[in-house]
Amino acid sequence: MRALTISAHGGLDQVTFRDDVAMPELGSPGDVRIRLAAGALNHLDLFVVQGMPGLTIVPPWVLGGDGAGVIESVGSEVTTVAPGDRVLINPGISCHACDYCKAGEQSLCVKFGLLGEHRPGTFAEYVVVPAWNVRRIPAGISDAVAAAFSLATLTAWRMLVTRAKVQAGEQVLIQGIGGGVALAALQIAKLNGAHVWVTSGSDEKLAKAAALGADETLNYRTVDVAREIRGRTGKRGVDIVVDSVGAATWAQSLGALGKRGRLVSCGATTGPIVETDMRRMFWNQWTLMGSTMGTDAEFDAIVTELSAGRLVPPVDAVFPLAEGRRAFERLSEQSQFGKLVLSIG
Ligand SMILES: [Zn+2]
Repeated sequence: MRALTISAHGGLDQVTFRDDVAMPELGSPGDVRIRLAAGALNHLDLFVVQGMPGLTIVPPWVLGGDGAGVIESVGSEVTTVAPGDRVLINPGISCHACDYCKAGEQSLCVKFGLLGEHRPGTFAEYVVVPAWNVRRIPAGISDAVAAAFSLATLTAWRMLVTRAKVQAGEQVLIQGIGGGVALAALQIAKLNGAHVWVTSGSDEKLAKAAALGADETLNYRTVDVAREIRGRTGKRGVDIVVDSVGAATWAQSLGALGKRGRLVSCGATTGPIVETDMRRMFWNQWTLMGSTMGTDAEFDAIVTELSAGRLVPPVDAVFPLAEGRRAFERLSEQSQFGKLVLSIG
């Protein structure tokens, strides 16, 4: 089958389109095989290309976590979907047997893994996943939007709704608007009645974020984000910070965080090692928390929002699968606003 692959870690020159990759087989009676129509990139896919500690790939390794397509075949125990159903995929694979999974906390699964990182991914004609990882695509939603939806929206939903418990009227700061998680966080925060601040180094991205509902926009190249927020809020600061940027934004994120503030992080695209003054943490009674992907129940919740038209991911550009390396290049330049999608059909 056709697929976008790597055979070794390194730069983007490793990203290779092939037409001789073996088709994945159903691994258990609960699996489904999907003929993919579209896939979508996440920053995680760049990390997989570059290589990460503890990550081992089997060449030719199929990249990609997000995807949407049509069920082609199902295992003998699958009852929730049938061949011909249009589905989108939750890229987080859990065992459904450990204590966390049984408690409904699938993203804490002791065997948790991601498509494209721990299992062959979605940038291919076919992918195999457990049936509990798919949901039917709501009517009227395109393949590109369905593929762009799951990872970023699920991650942002868990961060803001489940972990930070965002409330109407709260001040929310979202660092680095333009990426999938940040944009989904903007939409979810507005849906919940929050007052939303966004940051970017690009005035063009800030203008687009304002059009999507951002209340306050800050260009970190021209203003001191923390000082500006404290100034405009009468020194109060924000209630919640959503930070997936990491080292480059950590000091500003904490500088903007008000008393009893909650900072929630799902990633560290600019580096994972940061410095925190513990005195400010306990004096201000902050909660600093992590979040990863989401649960089956949260996946149901976001698909309901997609169905109702309340959470629809902006798509930056669509590339043919064979030109997938161009999408990776655009992602690595951080020039995108919204999701980068690969057309596979
Ligand atoms: Zn588990």
